Amino acid sequence: MDLLNTLVDKGLRRELPTREEALAVLATSDDDVLDVVAAAGKVRRHWFGRRVKLNYLVNLKSGLCPEDCSYCSQRLGSKADILKYTWLKPDQASEAAAAGLAGGAKRVCLVASGRGPTDRDVDRVSDTIRAIKDRNESVEVCACLGLLSDGQAERLREAGADAYNHNLNTSEGTYADITTTHTYADRVDTVEKAHAAGLSACSGLIAGMGESDEDLVDVVFSLRALDPDSVPVNFLIPFEGTPLAKEWNLTPQRCLRILAMVRFVCPDVEVRIAGGREVHLRTMQPLALHLANSIFLGDYLTSEGQAGKADLEMIADAGFEVEGADQVTLPEHRAAAEAGCGSHEGGGVCGSVAAQPVQEARTDLVAVRRRGAGTDLAPNA
Ligand code: SF4
Repeated sequence: MDLLNTLVDKGLRRELPTREEALAVLATSDDDVLDVVAAAGKVRRHWFGRRVKLNYLVNLKSGLCPEDCSYCSQRLGSKADILKYTWLKPDQASEAAAAGLAGGAKRVCLVASGRGPTDRDVDRVSDTIRAIKDRNESVEVCACLGLLSDGQAERLREAGADAYNHNLNTSEGTYADITTTHTYADRVDTVEKAHAAGLSACSGLIAGMGESDEDLVDVVFSLRALDPDSVPVNFLIPFEGTPLAKEWNLTPQRCLRILAMVRFVCPDVEVRIAGGREVHLRTMQPLALHLANSIFLGDYLTSEGQAGKADLEMIADAGFEVEGADQVTLPEHRAAAEAGCGSHEGGGVCGSVAAQPVQEARTDLVAVRRRGAGTDLAPNA
């Protein structure tokens, strides 16, 4: 297919595809999905070999958020029956992080619900980062605490944070449809603050919220313009008790096309399969490793993932290898670009088409997290 040959050539040169080319990837048929995966897989292997980076989520503070992000089980008014707890103590968070690192994770992602941290919250998280790094100095720590005020990114950097995550989630044009308590511009501002402070920027999207192909291309092109080092691709987990509970719009093939499009637009960036991997890709997960070079190990913030051991077996069976702490994630030209994260040698940062028909709801695949951080049960890692 000429389209795919063109996109492979551009991906190897880090050249931005046209919007039409990105849209055309999303419009390919299920019959062509293996060709799409094979083409984007060439770009993935060129920049990242067969390495898979493992990341581990620690939910520092769960539920009770005052914001109204409609996709989120922790939102204001959520009826989802999730774990709710306030800030973990540094030693509790460090214990949870250690389980993930022992399971093979290279990066720990410290996440807290809320609009954004107070200065006292930044102190707490700083103590937590130090506690984690005292136990394992090679770990990469990413903080995800919501909208940042002036100076907070710098303080997190000083405390040892390597990266900061704040997702754009969806296109600027539809942002107000999914959240009313903050704006798309607020989100962009926080990613820019993280970047400016020398933190590796991590920013991604959520697919499956009823958006059009144009919306998906818009948000991925916006991400490329922001130039994060890592782009998490979430597939909506339609939690019962949230406004998007009925949005079962994704098929495994659609997820693969979305990941391929992200890889073509952001060829040399860490593309991470995030929430919804097991729910929407299901038995097609191994194919997605040919597109993304990074996944989360074990459980998510409020839902359970497959067993950490199954993640490791899947990576080995598919012919990939877990990236070690001593291996550099990003290609040399990106790793050398700026100071920052342990991912990088020397530091660094990082329409009109209708949505797919609604699929049958698979609520049986959504398991609320009942183990790990905030419970007395062992974490999944
Ligand atoms: S700010 Fe974060 S925790 Fe709060 S509702 Fe939005 S996504 Fe959920």
